[in-house]
Amino acid sequence: MDQKYPPLSPLKTGVRGLCPRCGRGHLFSGFLTLRKECEVCGLDYAFADPADGPAFFVICFASVPTVLLAVWLAVAHHASIWAQIFVTGPFMILTCIPPLRPLKRWRVASQYFYKAEEGKLSRGDDAGEE
Ligand SMILES: [Zn+2]
Repeated sequence: MDQKYPPLSPLKTGVRGLCPRCGRGHLFSGFLTLRKECEVCGLDYAFADPADGPAFFVICFASVPTVLLAVWLAVAHHASIWAQIFVTGPFMILTCIPPLRPLKRWRVASQYFYKAEEGKLSRGDDAGEE
């Protein structure tokens, strides 16, 4: 981490969508599109690669209540397919789309904070260099 920037909690900066280094610039230029760099401190966001992590978490958390709702509608109310489409469909969208953005912001901020990067193989002869 840079010396002139104190470490900032990934929860505080990530959930608010702020730069993980300075805490003032913004992470996104669109709904889920990362900026190239922080507009305040110039931190290059090329390190950020949350991949499908946010979608994975959303699927894990949203699928259980959605399936439970669909099964409850079918068993308790003998809901038609149209009722399932118009009740379970919007419920699924409401539980999936809103958490994506804060989860992606938190994951990017955590990558910066914990210096997470792709794994590298190190050979035995240069293991003591770092
Ligand atoms: Zn910044």
